Amino acid sequence: MKVTRRELLKVAGAGAGALALGGLGVSYLVTESYAKDLKIKGAKEVRSICPFCAVSCRFIAHVKGGKVVSTEGDPGYPISEGALCAKGATMNSMVNSTHRVLKPMYRAPFSENWEEKSWSWMIEKLARKIKDTRDKTFTVKNAEGQVVNRLETMFHMGSSQMSNEEASIVVQAQRALGLVYMDHQARI
Ligand code: SF4
Repeated sequence: MKVTRRELLKVAGAGAGALALGGLGVSYLVTESYAKDLKIKGAKEVRSICPFCAVSCRFIAHVKGGKVVSTEGDPGYPISEGALCAKGATMNSMVNSTHRVLKPMYRAPFSENWEEKSWSWMIEKLARKIKDTRDKTFTVKNAEGQVVNRLETMFHMGSSQMSNEEASIVVQAQRALGLVYMDHQARI
């Protein structure tokens, strides 16, 4: 077998590294026993798509007992080949964060306190505010008398936590209301 100089140096380097580790007291048995306790051991691999932007990188979630214990990029996905940007790479901490707000919270005008509300209460409240604002301020014609049918008193801010499909539905709903001012958090 013909071995190139580069290959020879690689093998020699690896051998020297292994010997050096042994000399430093690194035990391969310890590494093996640690591997048995890895948090993803026995976890189910679930493939999903990062929801944070339209690149839609695929990731693998390791799920144990119904809980996500780890996430990583999926190397088998041809678009992203296992890579994730800073947002996608923090998926696990986002999913399991104790700071995550899981219920609708409401702070009344001038109040310093947040109150937990039901989804139906919150949706009703939002719908009423949107309807009242639109009824009061909708612009049918501009100063030149041209029909514009627009709502300039409301602004919509999208979220990078939304999927592409959710973002599409939200934009269509805002356009139907007549909104002209909207943006997306992932852009700023
Ligand atoms: S936010 Fe990052 S990891 Fe997620 S889809 Fe976009 S580029 Fe990929």
